Amino acid sequence: MSDVTSKNITWHGSTVTTEQRQELLGQRGCVVWLTGLSASGKSTIARRVEQLLLERRSMVYVLDGDNIRFGLNKDLGFSPADRTENIRRIGEVAKLFADACSVTLTAFISPYREDRDKVRTIMPAGTFVEVYVNASVDVCEQRDPKGLYKKARAGQIPEFTGISAPYEEPLSPELELLTGELDVDGCANAVIAYLEQKGFLPA
Ligand code: ADP
Repeated sequence: MSDVTSKNITWHGSTVTTEQRQELLGQRGCVVWLTGLSASGKSTIARRVEQLLLERRSMVYVLDGDNIRFGLNKDLGFSPADRTENIRRIGEVAKLFADACSVTLTAFISPYREDRDKVRTIMPAGTFVEVYVNASVDVCEQRDPKGLYKKARAGQIPEFTGISAPYEEPLSPELELLTGELDVDGCANAVIAYLEQKGFLPA
């Protein structure tokens, strides 16, 4: 914590250990980091996983792109520096949720590999699950649920990922979902199967 600005601050631990919390709640916290182009399917998959897990009484929460920009990150735009800070803050929040034992899904484009890797490094080993929600620009542009690609092509959105700003693919994600081929339920079930297999959730 040598880069912390404040002096005279102390980290306060819990009287409940992580293991006790996991035992009591019957699950392990983790961050399921969905990354991919706009309209690749991150939010849709995250919401489907959330619904399926809540139906089995698991603790699950979704941190989603625009929602965070309405509050915590309302001071940030889409410049490279702001995108990096956006992801850093989301990573810290996601870490807290995971520490509370929640399966924490994040649905952000998060285009820079280094930013995603930094979040991985702040998480306890093995609890960062990078999921590449992979659909081609063509597929995303055909879907265009919010009309953003149309606007970007018309030059109305500067620095639009996949069109006028870069997207750096994950090199070795824990999971890759080809959303142009697999339907929403297939993708959501693949995420849940992975979490069961790794012992974050009871099978
Ligand atoms: P993102 O959060 O990545 O910007 P959204 O989830 O908002 O993307 O939009 C994805 C769109 O693609 C939705 O309209 C969704 O219904 C559609 N879609 C088609 N197939 C899939 C799939 N396999 N997974 C997720 N979304 C899909």
